[in-house]
Amino acid sequence: MNADLTSRYGTMVFSDHVMKEYLPSDVYKKLSETVKEGKPLDLDVANAVAHGMKEWALKHGATHFAHWFQPLTGITSEKHDAFLDPVGDGTAIVKFSGKELVQGEPDASSFPNGGLRATFEARGYSAWDPTSPAFIKDEVLCVPTAFCSYSGEALDKKTPLLRSMATLDKQTKRVLALFGKNPAHVTVNVGTEQEYFLISEKDYERRQDLIVCGRTLFGAPPCKGQELDEHYFGAIRPTVNSFMKELDDELWGFAVAAKTKHNEVAPCQHELAPVFCNVNRAVDENLLTMEMMKLLASHHGLVCLQHEKPFEGINGSGKHNNWSFGTEDENLLDPGDTPEANLQFIVFLTCVIEAVDNYQDLLRMSVASCGNDHRLGAHEAPPAIISIFLGDELSSIIDALTSGETAAHTLREQLDFGVDVLPNLERDTTDRNRTSPFAFTGNKFEFRMPGSSVNVSDANTVLDTAVAKTLKEFADAMEARGDMEFEHAALNWVRKSLQAHKRILFSGDGYSEEWHVEAERRGLCNFATTADALPCFVAEKNLELFSEMGVLSPVEARSRYEVKLEKYNKLMNIEANTMEVMARRTYLPVISAYATKIAKGITTVTAAMPDAPMSHEHRELKTLTEGVNAIYDGLDALRDAHVAAEAIADSQEQANAYAHKVRPAMDALRAAVDAMEPIVASDYWPVPTYDDMLFYC
Ligand code: ADP
Ligand code: MG
Repeated sequence: MNADLTSRYGTMVFSDHVMKEYLPSDVYKKLSETVKEGKPLDLDVANAVAHGMKEWALKHGATHFAHWFQPLTGITSEKHDAFLDPVGDGTAIVKFSGKELVQGEPDASSFPNGGLRATFEARGYSAWDPTSPAFIKDEVLCVPTAFCSYSGEALDKKTPLLRSMATLDKQTKRVLALFGKNPAHVTVNVGTEQEYFLISEKDYERRQDLIVCGRTLFGAPPCKGQELDEHYFGAIRPTVNSFMKELDDELWGFAVAAKTKHNEVAPCQHELAPVFCNVNRAVDENLLTMEMMKLLASHHGLVCLQHEKPFEGINGSGKHNNWSFGTEDENLLDPGDTPEANLQFIVFLTCVIEAVDNYQDLLRMSVASCGNDHRLGAHEAPPAIISIFLGDELSSIIDALTSGETAAHTLREQLDFGVDVLPNLERDTTDRNRTSPFAFTGNKFEFRMPGSSVNVSDANTVLDTAVAKTLKEFADAMEARGDMEFEHAALNWVRKSLQAHKRILFSGDGYSEEWHVEAERRGLCNFATTADALPCFVAEKNLELFSEMGVLSPVEARSRYEVKLEKYNKLMNIEANTMEVMARRTYLPVISAYATKIAKGITTVTAAMPDAPMSHEHRELKTLTEGVNAIYDGLDALRDAHVAAEAIADSQEQANAYAHKVRPAMDALRAAVDAMEPIVASDYWPVPTYDDMLFYC
């Protein structure tokens, strides 16, 4: 690495290293303790921190500050306030107080809240989250904050995530104490692999569907798709490469450790993965990355599409969420190579398995979105069914543990079993099942269901909470074990748990039809659409989980469910509107015009040469007029279904109608338009085709 490369890293971040330089040592010490212990900051310290932060920000060209938060829209929000403060005599001073740093009061009335807050109490509070560092973006000092209502309910994605991290920290420590370990903290680590498409700005501007919905609502398959597999890891084209270089450079400035970049399977599809870090920061980094991708693409005449399925029939984009948890000294999902560590590993592994089985519905729900409905179960993406892939080595251990072979053995033999079979597990990084939605990949789980556009706070909140709950049950059981030796009791618990939850383990082809049948036989959830998946958010057992673990109160969970429903319904409404407008105003006129041209050609040619062979033209004309008719029929059917859905007052029922009535009507209209694309002359076709967009250079 050359010196320039390293010196750029983190220059825009008020990192630990910068804090040491800008804060008096006692302030730095107090702030570090606050961060570590998660305690509120006292105002004197906050004032001193604000002062240091302001000095640093001004030196780096900042003119404004903003509380940077994640309302339930999932994206980030910021309101900029100038550092400048007029003093009345025509001059101004620069001001940034501790209070301004730790607390903001943005008007919350236009953010989704699912009925949590009446408009007369429009105020929301944003509170500094000192565990994710402040940074400067485009001359604005951005302070990552949590966002809540006047009465303290969380109105954002960050707060529940922080709560879930705290509950996992607490329960993991209880379990580790049983193994004689007392670490200061347990951290959840996440690395997100962000997939995206890049297309030319010129093509994008000519597609209303891409502009409004982020995906193509129409488009026949291209002559060449991804069948040659030549794009995956292929040489990166110059325009894309210059975009990626600028992106890396920007991200490194934000101390986002962008590590790998490559072409993905689909043409025009790419991926960026950073080095993992604590989940709270990882989510912030991912949101920043997505924002930068969109912004910087425009510098290169490109548009970055982050929708889960911009192109029908072509791979969609996901955001693999690599997840593990551990202490400063060890990754608790690392199989390790000592027998004692292995019993511990098996306990943690079992708790994850049980958690994923018990809360598979919630995990599926956490990744449900309008866009992801098009991706899950299509092409490369995992199905909508949650299952776990463990790899051969771990699977055989689990099999041995659950087979009952050892059930009759004595305590000593059981322990020997643990010792004999478990040592020296090699990291299994080769045997990877790409079709699994939740795969063990060496020392972490890779949750592959989240879509590319989603804020992964939801998925990680569910995962952390569910695992914390299972760890709690384990710890409770162990504390109540009486005289039984710990290892014996732990192994018994593990065996019982695995026996009850092994149905969630699956090593076969997750894309196959047989798996759907088999999964149903096993009683696993299979929610095909968002409308089907969302109700489990408010299922009794799940409300209990969230409130027992202190992550979401029932009121908060219900409001989030409402927000998700509303968002789904609104997006479906927008897509249906866009389809109707495009079919009527973009496609029908040109298809009719082309039919008229053919008709005129027939008349002209026949007049000039009555016996000219015109049967092909007649057939073409018939196909075109029938096509136009099918589009009108499709439009009518969509309109009817759409109007009926919009008239439904209950948001769950409305979502059901959108998923099961409107969506099929949209598919039918699309098919009618797409059928015309290959037969209408290319100079008539009003929008760039898949061939145009996917192979732009
Ligand atoms: P892949 O083969 O799926 O691309 P990689 O090994 O390149 O997998 O890792 C993908 C992501 O997983 C990266 O963001 C990486 O930092 C992250 N990762 C690696 N180890 C861990 C871990 N222990 N916990 C969480 N994330 C991890
Ligand atoms: Mg991956």
